[in-house]
Amino acid sequence: MIDFELSDEHRILEQTVRDWGAREVAPRIRDLDREHRFDRNVLPQMARLGLLGVSVPAQYGGAGMDYISLGVVSEELEYVDTSLRVIMSVHAGLNCLTLLTWGTEDQKQRYLVPQAQGQQIATYGLTEPSAGSDVRGIQTVAVKKGERYLLTGEKMWISLADVADNFLVFAWTDLEKKKQRDTSGLSAFIVERAFKGFSSGTLTHKWGILAGNTGFFKMDEVEVPAENLVGRPGEGFKIAMFALDQGRFTVAAGATGLIRACRDASVKYASERRAFGVEIAQHQLVKEMIAQMESDYQAARLLWLRSGWLKNRGRRNTRETGLAKWFATVASERAAGDAVQIHGANGYSDEYPVGRFYRNCKGAVIYEGTREIHKLMQADYVLGLRTDRPTRCELPPAGGSNDDPR
Ligand SMILES: Cc1cc2nc3c(=O)[nH]c(=O)nc-3n(C[C@H](O)[C@H](O)[C@H](O)COP(=O)(O)OP(=O)(O)OC[C@H]3O[C@@H](n4cnc5c(N)ncnc54)[C@H](O)[C@@H]3O)c2cc1C
Repeated sequence: MIDFELSDEHRILEQTVRDWGAREVAPRIRDLDREHRFDRNVLPQMARLGLLGVSVPAQYGGAGMDYISLGVVSEELEYVDTSLRVIMSVHAGLNCLTLLTWGTEDQKQRYLVPQAQGQQIATYGLTEPSAGSDVRGIQTVAVKKGERYLLTGEKMWISLADVADNFLVFAWTDLEKKKQRDTSGLSAFIVERAFKGFSSGTLTHKWGILAGNTGFFKMDEVEVPAENLVGRPGEGFKIAMFALDQGRFTVAAGATGLIRACRDASVKYASERRAFGVEIAQHQLVKEMIAQMESDYQAARLLWLRSGWLKNRGRRNTRETGLAKWFATVASERAAGDAVQIHGANGYSDEYPVGRFYRNCKGAVIYEGTREIHKLMQADYVLGLRTDRPTRCELPPAGGSNDDPR
C-alpha cells in the first residue's frame, strides 16, 4: 500500500522545527552570515528539541523517531539556513547512525549516547587536502602499536571541524594496500578532540554556508585506543560509504527545503515588485521560473521520502538516496539562481535572503559525492555496471524490526 501522508508525529515535528527556526534563527541569520559566525548556542537548543539524536533509539539517548523524521528535520532546518542542516548531516547522519549500525556496545555507550543527547557534537573526516572524490588517495595512516593506533594525517573541508568533540576518521591501516590503492586497507576510528596530538582550525576564506563552521584537523601521532576502531580492520571504506547513505539523505531533504525557501521568497517578491504596470508575477517568464521551483520541490520531496521509506523498512537504499541527493542539490542550484533572477538587482545583495541561498546551495553539489560522481553512479546502475552488495552491518529499520514483506 502506498501512503503519501505524513503521520501526526511527523507533522508535529515539522511544525516544532519550523516554529523554532523562524523564532530563534531566522531573525539573526543575515547577521550571522555576514559576520561568518557559527552560533554555538543553537546546539543546546537543538538538543532540547531532540533533533541531535532524532532517529537514534531511546535506549541510546535519542528521540527514537523514524528516518522520515530525520528528513523532515533536515528539510525544515535548511529552509532557514544550510548551516543548521549541515549539523544534522555530519552529527546525526554521518556519525551517529554509523555508530548505531557499526559501533560496539561500548562505543555506543561512550559516544553515541552523549552525542544523541547533544552533550557531545560529532562529525566525519574523510576528505584530505589531496583527495576528495578519490577516497583511495587519502594519506592518513594508522599504525598499530600494542593496544593503540597512532594516527597521522590531515583532514580538510570538514564541517564542524573546530566545533566537534568526536570525529569519525578514516585512515590506512594496511600500508601495502595503500600503495596498491586497495580500499580493504582502510579502517575507521573514533578520535576525540581531547586526544594528544590533535589540532584543528577554521577555513576563513569560504564563501558559502558562512554561518556554519568548516575547517581542517591535523593528527600528529594521535594515540587512539584499539577499542575506538569502528567495525573490523579493513572495513573503513564500507563504513565511509555506509555513512554517506545517511548523510546524503539529510542533504537531499535539506536541499528540498532550500528549493522551497527559494520558491516562497520568489512568490513573495514577485507578488510585490511591479514592472511594466503589473506585478512581475504576471509576466510569463517569471511564472515559468516559479513553476520550475514548484515542480523541483515536489519531485525532490518525493525522492527523499522514498529513500526514508526504504530506510524505515531496513531496505538498502544507496541507489535511491544517491538519486535523491543528486536531483535535489542540482535542482536547488537552479532554484537559487532563478530566485536571484526574480529579485533582479535586489537579489544581488544580502538585503534579501536569496543571495545567501545562492551561495549556500553550491556546497551540496560538491560534498557527499559531487554532481559528476552521482551522475556516473546513476548511469552505472542503469547500465548494469553497478550493484549494491550487502554489507556486514545494515542500518536498523525504524522501530528495530524489519517489516519488509519481501
Ligand atoms: C562546505 C563543505 C563542507 C564539507 N564537509 C565535509 C565533511 O564534513 N567531511 C568530509 O570528509 N568532507 C567534507 N567536504 C569535502 C567534500 O566531500 C569534497 O569536497 C568532495 O568529496 C569533492 O572532493 P574534492 O573537493 O577534493 O574535489 P575533487 O574530487 O578533486 O573533484 C574536482 C572536480 O573533478 C570532478 N571529478 C573528480 N573525479 C571525477 C570522475 N571520476 N569523473 C568525473 N568527474 C570527476 C568532480 O566532480 C569535481 O567537479 C566538504 C566540502 C564542502 C565544500
